[in-house]
Amino acid sequence: MPLVARMRPFTSTIFAEMSALAVQHDAINLGQGFPDTDGPASMLQAAVGAINGGDNQYPPGIGVPALRHAIADHEREQYGIDLDPDSQVLVTVGATEAISGALLGLVEPGREVVMIEPYYDSYAACVALAGGVRKTVPLVSDGDGFVLDRDALSAAFGPNTAAVLVNSPHNPTGTVLGDDDLVEIARLATEHDVVVITDEVYEHLLFDGRTQQPIATLPGMAERTLRISSAAKTFNCTGWKVGWVTGPAELVAAARAAKQFLSYVGSGPFQPAVAHALRTEMAWARDNARDLERKRTVLSDALRSAGFGVHRSEAGYFVCADPRPLGFTDGAAFCRELPATIGVAAVPVSAFVDDTATWQHLVRFAFCKRDEVIAEAAARLRTLTEG
Ligand SMILES: *Cc1c(COP(=O)(O)O)cnc(C)c1O
Repeated sequence: MPLVARMRPFTSTIFAEMSALAVQHDAINLGQGFPDTDGPASMLQAAVGAINGGDNQYPPGIGVPALRHAIADHEREQYGIDLDPDSQVLVTVGATEAISGALLGLVEPGREVVMIEPYYDSYAACVALAGGVRKTVPLVSDGDGFVLDRDALSAAFGPNTAAVLVNSPHNPTGTVLGDDDLVEIARLATEHDVVVITDEVYEHLLFDGRTQQPIATLPGMAERTLRISSAAKTFNCTGWKVGWVTGPAELVAAARAAKQFLSYVGSGPFQPAVAHALRTEMAWARDNARDLERKRTVLSDALRSAGFGVHRSEAGYFVCADPRPLGFTDGAAFCRELPATIGVAAVPVSAFVDDTATWQHLVRFAFCKRDEVIAEAAARLRTLTEG
């Protein structure tokens, strides 16, 4: 086996397997979370203009000035966070590279990274690449939704903790961590003197009147928090791979040291287009969030009337559903059957966890799709109960 041992658990992704089944059976793919409509037209035009205008060579290592300034202004306007665009903002190849850069730049081999379970799939692989050790803290049910297991959270921190990686709004569950959870994470991070890395890519996709509160805005947290976001989910451009990380200069510099040898730079002509969108298209983003809120409700209702137990989705692209009332106890087996039986693809939440027994039943469905696609998926899901 030529593959290094630390990468052996990460050879295939569940998305590839389920997307292949979706194609094979011509199924509606509610597995992978990407929108099937474009972002704001003026942003697309800006990218075309940048390409035609000659923005096609290596951009600066830290990102084009227009985008770094737009990100700094966005942080001030949205959250009151003041940043120096030259030392406290780093543009990355998607949030994915921001996460890997931060972990590779800040976690010594053998040190631990606390993360919420279920976790976004790249977290475990990046911690492994860094030679770190993951310590997972489960979400637990609060009825129809999820909250952090506080006892597990404090137990996860110790003398060997290097960082805590927090994803809220959360993928795959759509949970928005409550203020109490954020305060507790901040308290533990301060007590143990560890870096907080936050993945906030769904920061503009909260539902039902919720608003994003970055941990970086809590007292004493700005100095130890790296905040990561991306244009992918805010502006429906997951293929552009324009992300960023912001925070104290020395932490950003650590992420940058690793990042410059991952991709060096990327997405040259898309960077000015995203700068344009951050400055002029936040109303588009708000309308998009309202659309997603409605789609969330439509798909959740459809799953419920098809007989699933449905968890509360508070933000983002996904709703988690429990097929046990329909007689399926294994979410992975259920997801492998679904494309062939009814023509819908989803992914099992067990793909995002270490403790597969606890999460074995749950299935994640994406609702970031056109209304007619969701309606057709709903009709197909209903056939599960109709026979
Ligand atoms: C989509 C997603 C990312 C990846 O963002 P990119 O900008 O496409 O790299 C990172 N974290 C979470 C939680 C996501 O859902």
